[in-house]
Amino acid sequence: MEACNTYYYATRDPLGADGDFTTAPEISQMFGEIVGAALADCWMQAGKPADAIYAELGPGRGTLAADALRVMAQAGFQGDVHFVETSPVLRAQQQSRHPNAVWHDSLAEVPGVPLLLAANEFLDALPIRQTVDGIERRIEVIGGHLAYDRDGTIREDSPARKDAVRLLAERIAANGGAALLIDYGYPAAAPGDTLQAVHGHRFAHVLERPGEQDLTAHVDFGAVAEAAREAGALATALVTQGDWLIRLGIGRRADALIEAQPDRAVEIRAAAGRLCDGEEMGSLFKVIGIHSKDWPAPVGLTE
Ligand code: SAH
Repeated sequence: MEACNTYYYATRDPLGADGDFTTAPEISQMFGEIVGAALADCWMQAGKPADAIYAELGPGRGTLAADALRVMAQAGFQGDVHFVETSPVLRAQQQSRHPNAVWHDSLAEVPGVPLLLAANEFLDALPIRQTVDGIERRIEVIGGHLAYDRDGTIREDSPARKDAVRLLAERIAANGGAALLIDYGYPAAAPGDTLQAVHGHRFAHVLERPGEQDLTAHVDFGAVAEAAREAGALATALVTQGDWLIRLGIGRRADALIEAQPDRAVEIRAAAGRLCDGEEMGSLFKVIGIHSKDWPAPVGLTE
């Protein structure tokens, strides 16, 4: 999974109608604006520390950052912008919109200052492990095709995600800050196979076209919260994307955008529905906040 995704992201921009999948920030500016508003609110409540930076893991086309930073600037935030991105193709896209950003291969390289961090659909792209009866499930070549070496009741875990969250939480615990992690996933580990492949906006077989289709797995947010707490940070409750966006006022934001551009009313309402409705992204996608003891929890993330 790691090898496939490294190649996959390094060789293309997978987002949008011509790519393989579409993400929340690409659906509407309202998504990034609300993320920015939540981070700006944390920053203001923490006393507007001047050394705080905006950091993002896997920023894609840089759209979320553009929308979030516009709102954060209105609140007076002028901190530096740091992106953790391994794909040269996506780095180039990000650079065209954020010429002054600083890029890193890993969060370990980001300066030790207070973080205002966002990660949307980043953790799902990190590699998972699957086990059957406690034995790691492997992939073999059988008759010229890739195939699993065993089937049965599958359990998943992801040391790579755990490491990423631990590093993030250690940084936040040591230097202050708050993070919003948004992804599809579930509240606690349960048996099951969630590895999936998407190609041209359709589900595909995960062992087909290695490196040419998007491989993701659902995020175990229980493991995320545990890794954050073990590293000395605080983790909020897990809230569905739909509930969170509604709590933070996506309805009023949609009304304001429609008032400014009445001819886009249908499109703006449809986008809000796609982000919030239970049968669209609203329930499957979830939001968790991670923050230091001396910083407030991001708003809207209580039970
Ligand atoms: N957050 C964006 C893009 C999501 S796609 C959006 O919501 O539109 C996943 C992103 O994570 C891409 O930018 C991809 O290049 C990046 N990525 C995947 N694995 C990574 C890794 N191990 N380290 C850094 N970036 C990674």
